[in-house]
Amino acid sequence: MSTPSLDADVLVVGAGPAGVAAALMATSLNMKVLVVESASVGGKLQTIGALENVSGNWTTGPQLAEALTTDLARLEEAGRCSLVRSRAVRVKGHSDRAEVLLANAQVLTAQAVVVGTGVAAMTPSDTDWISAAPSLSTPPLWRATPEQIGPRTYVLGGDRPLGTWLRAHPQSSVTLHVLAPAADDYKLAEVSGDDRVRVVPVSHVAISQALHGTDFIVEVENRGGERSTYVATAVLSNLGNRPAALEGLAVDQDGYCPPDIQHPRVFIAGDLRSGRFQRITTAQGSGAEAALAYYYSTALERV
Ligand SMILES: Cc1cc2nc3c(=O)[nH]c(=O)nc-3n(C[C@H](O)[C@H](O)[C@H](O)COP(=O)(O)OP(=O)(O)OC[C@H]3O[C@@H](n4cnc5c(N)ncnc54)[C@H](O)[C@@H]3O)c2cc1C
Repeated sequence: MSTPSLDADVLVVGAGPAGVAAALMATSLNMKVLVVESASVGGKLQTIGALENVSGNWTTGPQLAEALTTDLARLEEAGRCSLVRSRAVRVKGHSDRAEVLLANAQVLTAQAVVVGTGVAAMTPSDTDWISAAPSLSTPPLWRATPEQIGPRTYVLGGDRPLGTWLRAHPQSSVTLHVLAPAADDYKLAEVSGDDRVRVVPVSHVAISQALHGTDFIVEVENRGGERSTYVATAVLSNLGNRPAALEGLAVDQDGYCPPDIQHPRVFIAGDLRSGRFQRITTAQGSGAEAALAYYYSTALERV
């Protein structure tokens, strides 16, 4: 059904669970699909060490990511889909087509675009409660092994990967000192039964590199206004995410891209929709639904 002058029927931006589900559904409906991915197929799945809420007996994210990679490879071999390894920077809907501008200045065109770029990890400079030089390195907690966590390792923020990390390392007896603003209290409730977590409630944290050696100086102001200083061997980030919205998308006050306020040729799937439904199965469902929404919106034109 593809129009010869366009590159595809559907462009899918992001090959996480949402994007791959959109590509699978669209190709099953005989649509020609291009998937644009700037990193690895599987998206956030690569970061999930323990998985227990996805049907199909998947126990880790990388296992499921490998299966999605195989799905896309199968579609590519069948000539129904192509994977474009590039970063998309802008999306635009027109009356007769949708366009995606890539970082290399190439413009891809299609009847519709499904955007499933998810959310990106926040850094200390994205928050208003941490002061740190932009050059200061705070690697993500999810990537740390128990061996890399010492008695003077501090974790910035109480976002949900903390629970995933604890479930992924059930035998580890390390203590995680979590510096958490009040906004994270409801998330920390999920790990309150795990005595490996020591929460330090904070209103502000300033981090600097110690003058000598590799240690960090962590100056904490607690929620009562009292100040303490710690010397840390490592500081890890667990600050949550912000929507990875592309230029040209309509955004709400939190930076998310609600599907119902987009151009009619632009469909949003997965975590990018809202902070509320950030789960693998909802990403997959919304990806498939985005492809179907386009298919049925054009069904009358094809008969
Ligand atoms: C540590 C951690 C643990 C989690 N544990 C669970 C769990 O146990 N169970 C559960 O259900 N959910 C879990 N989640 C949430 C789950 O991972 C997400 O809900 C899901 O991956 C969202 O899928 P998505 O396709 O919307 O986005 P993502 O998985 O984020 O995929 C987005 C894709 O888009 C690509 N992309 C981004 N920007 C661009 C661009 N400009 N151009 C091209 N490509 C781009 C990215 O590289 C990525 O591949 C967890 C998340 C994290 C971080």
